[in-house]
Order: sequence, then structure tokens, then C-alpha cells
Amino acid sequence: MKLIFATNNAHKLKEVKEILGERIELRSLKEEGIDGDIPETAQTLEGNALQKARHIYKLTGKDCFADDTGLEVVALGGEPGVRSARYASEEGHDDKANKRLLLENMKGIGNRAAQFRCAIALILEGKEYLFEGIVRGHIANMELGDGGFGYDALFIPEGSIDSFAQMSEEQKNAISHRGRAVEKLAEFLNTYKRQ
Ligand code: IMP
Repeated sequence: MKLIFATNNAHKLKEVKEILGERIELRSLKEEGIDGDIPETAQTLEGNALQKARHIYKLTGKDCFADDTGLEVVALGGEPGVRSARYASEEGHDDKANKRLLLENMKGIGNRAAQFRCAIALILEGKEYLFEGIVRGHIANMELGDGGFGYDALFIPEGSIDSFAQMSEEQKNAISHRGRAVEKLAEFLNTYKRQ
């Protein structure tokens, strides 16, 4: 089965390929000759994942999926959530500034519970499906470790004393939001019978 993954992030592609296995031939946007921005203007993670998958489906007419992730902090009413990449600035992806702002907004707050949530939208034979992966944990008082990306250095998953940034990639993938959502996608695809 061939599937387009609506990403150009080589790191994500490799991670997802490992979970889906060889039965699924995963194609990146680049491999499909698709460039240009994909709209991501919805108010929810599910909305964004669907928006991206629908965009690619419209362009190609091929089976595809897209993901969207957010860090949801209980004491901040679920923020930064769908705005995780653009928390500190609208241009987005300034990890340093995002972490600084999160620590600032969490100053003096005792309840540090948070979760990463990943939504995956799949379009298969024209039908839409959603999958979700969650990892619960809490926000550290300071940055811990220098591996990973995004908010990794500030997130300590349940049952661990290390932050995501202090773990190996394998350790993180085994429990991460994206890993869990992709596992659900893999389970679905492995039992799917073409119409
Ligand atoms: P995306 O939807 O996967 O692009 O994620 C949106 C934003 O959430 C990223 O820019 C990061 O700030 C944050 N994020 C997503 N996944 C992770 C992760 O595994 N660790 C840390 N931050 C993440």
C-alpha cells in the first residue's frame, strides 16, 4: 500500500516509517513533487490535520495522511495547544522563544500537569479517519537536556524523571504522542481491506 505523508520533515518521516513497517510505502511531499505551503489555519489539532490531508488529497487524488501536534498545559487552559509552533511569534518554530515564554507563563504555578497530543487525519479511498495519541506528564521548572526539539527540554513524561530531551530517540518514540498515534494508524492499516 502506498501512502503520502504530508510532511517534509525528514526526522518525522523516518520515525513514522519505522513504526508503519515495510508493508506501507511511505512517500513524502518532496517525493511526490509537491511544494508550497499547506494551509494550517484551523482552531483544533484535528481540524489542522484534516485540512492538510484534504489539501494533499485534492492535489493528488491519492491516499494520504497528515499530523498535527500541540502541547496542552492544564493550568493554562490547554495552551499553547494548536498554537504550539507559533506560541512566541507568528512566524513560528522559534523553539527557544517558545520555551522561554512557557516558563514565564508558568512562573509561580503549582499545577504543572500537561500533555502532548497528536492528531492524525487519514484519507483512504476517499474516506476520512482520525487517530489520536497522547502522552501525559508535567512541565519542568527549567530546561533539562539538550536533545530533541520543540518543548522536549521542558516536558517530563509520567513515570520518568528525565525530560524528553534527556532520552534517546528510541525511548521517546516508544511513549510519545506521535508514536502512539502512528501505532493506531498502523493497527488500522494492517487490518484494512480495500473496498
Ligand atoms: P507539529 O504539528 O508536529 O509541527 O508540532 C507543532 C509544534 O508542537 C512544534 O513546532 C513543536 O513546538 C511542538 N512539538 C510537536 N511535537 C513535539 C515533540 O515531540 N516534542 C517537543 N515539541 C513538540
